[in-house]
Amino acid sequence: MKVAVFGTRKYDQDSLNAANQGGFLKFTFIEALLDQTTAILAADHEAVCIFVNDICNAAVLESLHHLGVKFIALRCAGFNNVDLEAAARLGIQVARVPAYSPEAVAEFTVGMMMTVVRKYHKAYARVREGNFLLDGLLGFNLHGKTIGLIGTGKIGLLTGRILARGFNANVIAYDPYPSPLAQEYGFGYVDTLDELLEKSDIISLHCPLTDSTKYIINDDTLGKMKRGVILINTSRGGLIDTYALIRALKSGHIAAVGLDVYERESSYFFADSSAKVIADDTFARLLSFYNVFMTGHQAFLTEEALSNIADTTFKNLKDLKEKGTCDCIVKA
Ligand code: NAD
Repeated sequence: MKVAVFGTRKYDQDSLNAANQGGFLKFTFIEALLDQTTAILAADHEAVCIFVNDICNAAVLESLHHLGVKFIALRCAGFNNVDLEAAARLGIQVARVPAYSPEAVAEFTVGMMMTVVRKYHKAYARVREGNFLLDGLLGFNLHGKTIGLIGTGKIGLLTGRILARGFNANVIAYDPYPSPLAQEYGFGYVDTLDELLEKSDIISLHCPLTDSTKYIINDDTLGKMKRGVILINTSRGGLIDTYALIRALKSGHIAAVGLDVYERESSYFFADSSAKVIADDTFARLLSFYNVFMTGHQAFLTEEALSNIADTTFKNLKDLKEKGTCDCIVKA
């Protein structure tokens, strides 16, 4: 079965090749992201394999359908970039990797929280320059702080467990579908999002990007947060209205931010953009704040996660081809 794998880096190729038992899949690795102009590269392939920033809207799906593509295999859990209704209409089946390593993202989130609070990144740069002054590096203990989690699915739950069990933080969560595991992991729920916003010293986002969660962090919700709050987002960039965040940073309402994602990240992330002028002024402004710490959608990137992604993707495609369905199918 021929698979056009879009947006690939070397680590994707290595893990997919390792998972390809018996050479069942014939990969064409493509560095470019999937969009309307690159879809043609999938000609003569039965399946297309994509990641978080590939564009798989109705127009792209129409093109893929004309080229004979029957399956879309997402190498990620989120499917907000695929028009599922268009896929269903065209008879294209879509599969994803629902959970590849929630531990990878949860551990990274806590590391990002620690970095922002204790300023590891500034200390690292300073010490390398021979500057051992501690001024400006003052942090605070996570122990006893109120940390609010918005969304307690696989990743939010594990993040809560690390913070409650490991740091003895007072973890509170908001989720329309609370999990019974939270109590076992040492934390509980508040009844409303507003209550979480008002009480938390640190807020971390762990809900998916959907029509109802887009810009869940906006002028209104930022205004309800404590002055001096720290915000962490390792979920999806579109959860935050970046203009509102910049306003809150400029006014000093937000003390610091850790971001692994950005709402228009696809123009820059997963590529070396160091010799490129940043044309997105909002992104450039965000990067310019001394109290914004940003990484390039890296939270998932562990050996364990890549191996699980590749194994599930292999199984999804093999099952789709041989059985006409798979365990990880995504439907509109
Ligand atoms: P999940 O589906 O297991 O859990 C999501 C939770 O969010 C669910 O419990 C759901 O009820 C809750 N939720 C939905 N709407 C909500 C709302 N309005 N308010 C509060 N909670 C709400 O998802 P997951 O696997 O834990 O992933 C969480 C997020 O992390 C996703 O957005 C995913 O795309 C992102 N993610 C990022 C990376 C990365 O590398 N940065 C890697 C994997 C996943």
